Amino acid sequence: MSVPEHKGERIIRGIPVSGGVCRGRVFVHGKARDAISNQGITEGEISGELVRLENALIATRHEISEVQRQVREAMGAEHAGIFDAHLLVLEDPTLIDEVSRLVHNEHFNIAHAFQHVADKYVATLAAIEDNYLRERAADMRDVAARILNNLLGRSNESELRHLRVPSIVISEDLSPSGTALLDKTMVLGFGTEMGSRTSHTAIMARSLKIPAIVGLKDAVHQVQSGEEALLDGFNGYLIINPTDQTLFEYGQLVRKQQSVEEGLRELRDKPAITLEGSRIILSANVEQAADAVAVQEFGAEGVGLFRTEYLFLSKQTLPSEEEQYQAYRQVAATLNPQPVLIRTLDIGGDKFVSHLQIPQEMNPFLGWRAIRFCLERRDIFRHQLRAVLRASADGNVKLMYPMVSGLNELLQANELVEQCKSELSSEGIPFNNSIEIGVMIEIPSAVMIANTLAKHVKFFSIGTNDLIQYSLAVDRLNDKIAHLYEPTHPAIVNLLKMTIDAAHRNGIWVGVCGEMAGDVSMVPLLLGLGADELSTSPSLVPEIKFLIRRMKLSEAKDLADWALTCESGSEIYERCNGIARRLAPTLFETQK
Ligand code: PEP
Ligand code: MG
Repeated sequence: MSVPEHKGERIIRGIPVSGGVCRGRVFVHGKARDAISNQGITEGEISGELVRLENALIATRHEISEVQRQVREAMGAEHAGIFDAHLLVLEDPTLIDEVSRLVHNEHFNIAHAFQHVADKYVATLAAIEDNYLRERAADMRDVAARILNNLLGRSNESELRHLRVPSIVISEDLSPSGTALLDKTMVLGFGTEMGSRTSHTAIMARSLKIPAIVGLKDAVHQVQSGEEALLDGFNGYLIINPTDQTLFEYGQLVRKQQSVEEGLRELRDKPAITLEGSRIILSANVEQAADAVAVQEFGAEGVGLFRTEYLFLSKQTLPSEEEQYQAYRQVAATLNPQPVLIRTLDIGGDKFVSHLQIPQEMNPFLGWRAIRFCLERRDIFRHQLRAVLRASADGNVKLMYPMVSGLNELLQANELVEQCKSELSSEGIPFNNSIEIGVMIEIPSAVMIANTLAKHVKFFSIGTNDLIQYSLAVDRLNDKIAHLYEPTHPAIVNLLKMTIDAAHRNGIWVGVCGEMAGDVSMVPLLLGLGADELSTSPSLVPEIKFLIRRMKLSEAKDLADWALTCESGSEIYERCNGIARRLAPTLFETQK
């Protein structure tokens, strides 16, 4: 298939993150941070512009009051109080006077005038050496974005849920929570300017089986809503106005993919077993209770990672212990006796929960995230631990903690589990007293003390997405440095080996649940290094199983031994990719 543009079409190239091809009209989702140009207005237009401001302020007041009401109901008046500061911004006479002056005196159009003044306020507040006032900058930024969206009639992210026509959504960025809430019948595929393969937005797209591309440079400005497009999530092409020739070629590619998928479906009930008969545990990563069906449909053996944050991201209020219990129980009972590894809340990083009022941070991935958040917000953590423990009575539930950087965090979390167990016992509520607890290895410090950590847990699960970003100092979301995000970097290969060896020395098993485990090219390397389990998006499980059933563990071990001595990440990648292509050429047929 030809990659070059055919006459009349335009191709924008990005990073493919979720396979599949879709065709439809584009919907460009507005950028909240666009610089709004000053088109200038006439004297006669001034009053109309000021009425627009008035209306936008009223609409914003309604929106904020509604959010405040929901938070008050869920978390009490104390938490809802934070929105009083947002409402005050709407009444700030200095701000409104300054905007009006620019409209009157300079004939700025209202959106430009408002953005100009709001940006100035934000910059002034952010520069003040006082934590309280600095936080007001975040309030100001939030409210200003809402007012601007209302002034321009643009949709907030949540409104993507109300698309009327099936569309390909193009956006500067999409949050993981926004992606989780997308209506699959209306969003045929999406492309964003920001992001990378391991951003949670990309992971979510794979889980939802929505074709997606990230790192589409300047797409929001290059594409118009309503244009016809084809999105190729296998190769990372957004083709605007595709020609008949392109559509024909893609028709063939889709048919080829369908026949590969049909072949893979036959493996559903077969084990992941190598040619010499070594059994590998192949599990699935899930985000919500409903995903249990996909785990079975794609032939995974249980859940290797239940990302529980989506229970928190998908609603405006905190899920209660009971709600969480129902979700965990549903997965555990459906898949029983297969294991379900429930990971405790990994909030922060790129996953914000607006109703939890987590302050904006300079480096959210290095900040108040995951176990760090849970050990401080013990009210939230306890509810979750109790819910997981209760679900352990209904299936083969295991518990694991994310982002552990030192022994102390692990011991504190284990201590809390013991307290929750005692509470449940005294309340007569059933749970599995010998529930297995594991720890995610995703920070280099955890690798270095893996030997110690292993003495306090029953298993490790390696989170390569974070382990790579923290070891190589490469932000996993940043498309500009995506080329430096290198799973086969010699440092990573050695860190994986150290972790696996430490686990085995201490008699515990070790899995890999980062995106590396869902990349067919990486599977021989991971298994050769000694991983006992791989866990990936349900939809990727069949290809991984297909490859495992065609490989020899002895060859994988040779590959790993060689990789541990190789000095070049790209050489390691090339050899891994070559082996996977040789073992399973059909899996690469959709690649150009
Ligand atoms: C990881 O870091 O590899 C992982 C599985 O966790 P998450 O992607 O949710 O951070
Ligand atoms: Mg992680």
